[in-house]
Amino acid sequence: MRFDVITLFPEALSAALNFGVVGRARERDFLALGFVNPRDFAFDAYKRVDERVYGGGPGMVLMLEPLKRALAAAKALAEAPAKVIYLSPQGPTLTQKTARSLSTAERLILICGRYEGLDERFVAHYVDEELSIGDYVLSGGEPAAIVLIDAVTRLLPGVLNKSESAEQDSFENGLLDCPHFTRPEMAEEGNVPAVLKSGDHAAIARWRLQQSLGQTHLKRPDLLKNMNLNKVEKGLLDDFIAALEPPP
Ligand code: SAM
Repeated sequence: MRFDVITLFPEALSAALNFGVVGRARERDFLALGFVNPRDFAFDAYKRVDERVYGGGPGMVLMLEPLKRALAAAKALAEAPAKVIYLSPQGPTLTQKTARSLSTAERLILICGRYEGLDERFVAHYVDEELSIGDYVLSGGEPAAIVLIDAVTRLLPGVLNKSESAEQDSFENGLLDCPHFTRPEMAEEGNVPAVLKSGDHAAIARWRLQQSLGQTHLKRPDLLKNMNLNKVEKGLLDDFIAALEPPP
């Protein structure tokens, strides 16, 4: 998969995407990243890409022309057609489902805003989709682009090795992930649940499902409201809740 990112800070973005799963995916050619800086397409000697907002008031806006030229340059970096996504607090929130759907694309162009954002005419004419990473305002789209690229890259076939598999992750089946434990078996802070050492795969799967349901009930009950639990799942969750309640 290929991402081309339009950003005023390409070095920062590239460096942040050089580590861990994403860095490895780049090394192994699962992921290609290109960067285009609108400043390289400014048309005055000062390399100006922002201007004061019409109508008065504080704040600068990224100008239409450098953005248009940067987008044309980004499109020319590869042959495959690309959907253009503007990272913006005004878009729908990025979810695991969106990340999974984006991971099937061959190529995406991401636009990182700065200041008050982009000239609205650029958004209206050249952006296919706006995506937010949450209901708060960042100073720039770069952290959001890093989040999106990371979330999508780990879903590309072959990127995660077996032990890192994404299938058990939170949100994949609508639930939060179950708790995980590693050595030591016993500690002052508690012991590893016996079932996880039993070697009984069916019992372990049942425990994990029950814990996923329970953690979702405790931490994100809103997720459960959108799910149709089957009889087994309902039973597991009821038992989990009953075990939480102190005896009368
Ligand atoms: N004036 C804009 C508004 O209130 O909608 C906010 C502009 S913000 C200071 C500058 C840039 O940061 C935006 O153009 C966008 O690219 C990025 N940004 C800010 N918050 C974001 C979020 N929650 N998700 C994705 N991008 C965000």
